Amino acid sequence: MRTEGVLAIDRALTVSKPCLVRIISIGGLGVNSPSHLKIMTGYPLQSIIDRQVFSHTAKVIKGGLLTGTSVDDSMKGLDTECRGLTILSEHKDREFLGFVRPGWDRKSYSGCYLSSLRKDFRERYSTAVRGELRPCISCNFCEEVCPAGIMPHLIHKYLYSDLIEEADQSRLDLCVECGLCSFVCPSKIELKSQFVEAKGLIAKEKEEIRKEEQARQEAIQENNQ
Ligand code: SF4
Ligand code: SF4
Repeated sequence: MRTEGVLAIDRALTVSKPCLVRIISIGGLGVNSPSHLKIMTGYPLQSIIDRQVFSHTAKVIKGGLLTGTSVDDSMKGLDTECRGLTILSEHKDREFLGFVRPGWDRKSYSGCYLSSLRKDFRERYSTAVRGELRPCISCNFCEEVCPAGIMPHLIHKYLYSDLIEEADQSRLDLCVECGLCSFVCPSKIELKSQFVEAKGLIAKEKEEIRKEEQARQEAIQENNQ
């Protein structure tokens, strides 16, 4: 169950009232200005779109760009699970035989357009959309698939901040290194390799502490004899 569901149940149990109003985000390239809306469950989607979206050929996605689902005509109102809407402009017009025009203003990584001579694209062709490392988007997918029942995204954030002790306390030791978290991660964060490395580091540190303690105990025993 998502956070909204838990909050709705909490409200129903503590103040005996249904949770009717929600706050959703609306963003994407097709909106007039990205914002948050306080809105009732069941509010007509078309009214939101008429007010916020400037392009009539926009695609509406329930949720984020990577994890959301496309909204079709059957979804009339805002449902209880919706946390936000992403609006994308769709270009329906296609240039006739556009692929044969070696334009100066077209981006290409394969050198098939004249523009590739300029060599000034900011984008880089790599595993990420822009060639950069991508941040965790808190989609929770990794936690949902983890067979060890730990929170890979939380441990990742601890390790990212060099908080090794906190990562250890979050039961990183339970990780069975199956790699499912890395597989499902839409940001393609190398969670498993990060965890394997951190586990090795923690085990080494614990071993060093154990040896120091053993040496200390032996020294105390020698002094007592
Ligand atoms: S690699 Fe570890 S943290 Fe990731 S899903 Fe498997 S057990 Fe969970
Ligand atoms: S680490 Fe990846 S899968 Fe896990 S919450 Fe973050 S983006 Fe989602």
